Amino acid sequence: MKINKIKKIVIKIGSSSISSIQNGLNQSNINILVNEINWLKQHGVKVALVSSGAISMGLHVSGKQRRPTKLAQLQSLAAIGQIELMQAYKKLFYKKNKDIQIGQVLLTNDDLVSRERYLNAKNALDELLNSGAVPIVNENDTVAYDEIQFGDNDILASRVANLIQADLLVIFTDQNGLYDKDPSKHTDAKLIEKIQSDDPLLEDISQNTSSSSGIGSGGIRSKILAAKTAARGGTSTIIGKGMLKNFFKDLFDNNLQMTIISPNQKKINAKQTWMIDNSKPKGQLFLDDGAIKALLDNKKSLLPVGVKSFSGNFQRGDLLSCMNQDGVEVARGLSNFSSVDVEKIMGQKTDCLNQSLENMFEENLIHRNNLVII
Ligand code: GLU
Repeated sequence: MKINKIKKIVIKIGSSSISSIQNGLNQSNINILVNEINWLKQHGVKVALVSSGAISMGLHVSGKQRRPTKLAQLQSLAAIGQIELMQAYKKLFYKKNKDIQIGQVLLTNDDLVSRERYLNAKNALDELLNSGAVPIVNENDTVAYDEIQFGDNDILASRVANLIQADLLVIFTDQNGLYDKDPSKHTDAKLIEKIQSDDPLLEDISQNTSSSSGIGSGGIRSKILAAKTAARGGTSTIIGKGMLKNFFKDLFDNNLQMTIISPNQKKINAKQTWMIDNSKPKGQLFLDDGAIKALLDNKKSLLPVGVKSFSGNFQRGDLLSCMNQDGVEVARGLSNFSSVDVEKIMGQKTDCLNQSLENMFEENLIHRNNLVII
């Protein structure tokens, strides 16, 4: 891998690498991370850091030994701990290189669901990166709750990678990478150096590696899911041992043990990535076989004639799932019509549409440019 081909990197670091409830921040590990980011920036690479540690630091400064289960308590600990975390980053970045500014970015899944808020988040991150700053991203734990959570920061990091169209997502763990078998059970487990994002072995590893394999908080499953999410946007993912001095120098000198998961599916654009990452389509369109063929084989737009039924209340511009006859989602796209209008035009041929609707601006229910095949 050549560093001059890499313009943007997202680095993900977990709580246990940089903090502990008993001892608080691990200054020496944060220092290594800051040195690594500084090295990348000296080589012209834009870096966004996704850092956990808010709750762990909140527990530490509040003198609590155990993670509470009540949501409000977790939210309040995150609010307390997030400041500690950012202060440490600010201090150590300033000490290393006064020219590097850092910017705190707190996101929930909800912020990326609406197209408008997604674009706002994207613009803010792009602006931070273009100005030379290092965005330090975490889940907005103080307001997050189940339904709007990313789940864990591996997934958040992959969404950030897609948001800024990063070339590389680097997930630091306490292992050298992914192994073909669970290394905690098999002494002959071998490190996988390179693998394609759609290799069935990834699914196998995901199912069969226990979370006690030392791979970090989200476990192996979320790291593989994160790599697959990043791959959709054309981003390669590296899973490697964090807190190694010269990690990136060794990586670009081809002198590092790690796993690289490369995308091998066709890269989709940022808008299409958003449509897939966005977990909440507002409705479903059930299509006949002709429409499925038009979408999947002939790469056409979706016409009203191919829609047999639909569900949901939606407006023009909302994201919809396109389902085949077996109820499997095959595509997603932005609707040109509200559900009230779809009720009137579904199943109708294009030349009849004018009779059903007073104001007909579009022939396509979903235009090809606003559609992504899943
Ligand atoms: N956002 C959480 C924190 O900062 C951690 C989530 C995770 O590690 O996946 O404490």
